[in-house]
Amino acid sequence: PGRVRDATGEKPLDVLARVFGYDAFRGEQQEIIEHVVAGGDALVLMPTGGGKSLCYQIPALVRRGTGVVISPLIALMQDQVDALRALGVRANFLNSTQDLDERRLVEAEFASGELDLLYLAPERLRVPATLDLLNRGTISLFAIDEAHCVAQWGHDFRPDYLQLSQLHERWPDVPRIALTATATPATHQEIASRLKLDEARHFVASFDRPNIQYRIAPKNEPKKQLLDLLRSEHAGDAGIVYCLSRASVEKTAQFLVDSGIDAVPYHAGLDARVRAANQSRFLREDGLVVVATIAFGMGIDKPDVRFVAHLDLPKSVEGYYQETGRAGRDGLPSTAWLAYGLQDVVQQRKMIDGSEGDAEHRRRLTAHLDAMLALCETVECRRVRLLAYFGQESGPCGNCDSCLTPAKSWDGTIAAQKLLSTIVRLKRERNQKFGAGQIIDILLGKKTAKVIQFDHDALSVFGIGTELREAQWRGVVRQLLAQGLLAVEGDYGTLVLTEASKEVLGGGREVPLRSEPERPVKAATRSGG
Ligand code: ADP
Ligand code: ZN
Repeated sequence: PGRVRDATGEKPLDVLARVFGYDAFRGEQQEIIEHVVAGGDALVLMPTGGGKSLCYQIPALVRRGTGVVISPLIALMQDQVDALRALGVRANFLNSTQDLDERRLVEAEFASGELDLLYLAPERLRVPATLDLLNRGTISLFAIDEAHCVAQWGHDFRPDYLQLSQLHERWPDVPRIALTATATPATHQEIASRLKLDEARHFVASFDRPNIQYRIAPKNEPKKQLLDLLRSEHAGDAGIVYCLSRASVEKTAQFLVDSGIDAVPYHAGLDARVRAANQSRFLREDGLVVVATIAFGMGIDKPDVRFVAHLDLPKSVEGYYQETGRAGRDGLPSTAWLAYGLQDVVQQRKMIDGSEGDAEHRRRLTAHLDAMLALCETVECRRVRLLAYFGQESGPCGNCDSCLTPAKSWDGTIAAQKLLSTIVRLKRERNQKFGAGQIIDILLGKKTAKVIQFDHDALSVFGIGTELREAQWRGVVRQLLAQGLLAVEGDYGTLVLTEASKEVLGGGREVPLRSEPERPVKAATRSGG
């Protein structure tokens, strides 16, 4: 094709200045860009706001041909393309919102080499015609945005992403760059293997957002707690309040308005025009509060969001990190505040039990929820736990609620040892596995039918735990799970030891537990326990 621009030979730094108007690269941007310009594959883990887009946009401008960007954020494609065009970049997109004529136009642009960047929704790859189209043009690189969507273990799996491995099979010589803002070590590995990024260089930025103060509070009267926070610390600030349901979004927004706060709702059930208007007000104005479901925020680039508040428990640490990450992109002090109550746990467990999909899927959701609970219940620095979840080490931050006002805790070491050694005793019985219920019955010395059936009343640990009530034991179980000192296995919630449990049993590790005075017994029950 005659109009395909040759590789410009321009230096990345010059493109950065000429096209984007910036004078220096941030973090590892330059290394990533040079690696991709040279034809290498890359896997980039960088927090929101880190500057991932330039990592593929600049190589696409330097290399010959069109950079093909796979992105699930269909609603944003128009905006992204408009922003690039305003900078003089020849960009366009293909997704299901376009009619045939619009698509034909873009396809013609691509095939005749008139595009620097083509944004493609992953579902387009299901259509054979799309692959034929890609064959007709010259591709400078593939960028796979939101790459965690390929990971089934992740929190945001999209089946269409599994198609992406064929890009490599069909175009083995085109460099690929996969990018994500959230990936646990397991997800990280899964991205690399599913996308067959065997030769890729991995670029992993720090996930720390030091200017964000993380706080997780017990939920009493959430709306009032929220209002206190806004009035005492964030008067006149722009912020996002996340709620789980559309109904609570509406109610909370109305409550804030009635309380004199400039607030608007945002959720998928609102009229598209209202939604767009509320979003653009948020971007344009100072000090507007958006009350939203998690439908809000993907790709929103507002630097001065001063707080992100969650009135309901996020389903995963990844989600929590992504949502709170929208605060403080300008680097100034910001608050991530979450109100967390027992009802959240009950509600989310119910949602998992009632969710579609197989046992494996539910197990995944449960693991995500458990990790989120662990973060809520830790007496340690929130940031240390958060970063550890993403496989990164750090020290106590001094800028989270645990660091600022150390949580009340009690020494649960002996309780933990009793509980763990009961599990050890039971392990000796071949093929028999028991959940929290049976283990607590043994500790409390209860002669239930099941205890008698398995002769558990003859165990040396029978009745050694009467100093705690059943509810307290359930709290111990939950917190040991939270701390990784215990794990659950299988569909029936079988409790099993972890490597770390052995340290506790050996007396080499203390177990501080967060004290929780008034949690009702029933609600603390784990399913299958
Ligand atoms: P991410 O995709 O990682 O969330 P973006 O690519 O949207 O981040 O970049 C976040 C913001 O930072 C954008 O406004 C972008 O223009 C800006 N930015 C990125 N790189 C640089 C840089 N080297 N210098 C100045 N601003 C930058
Ligand atoms: Zn801390």
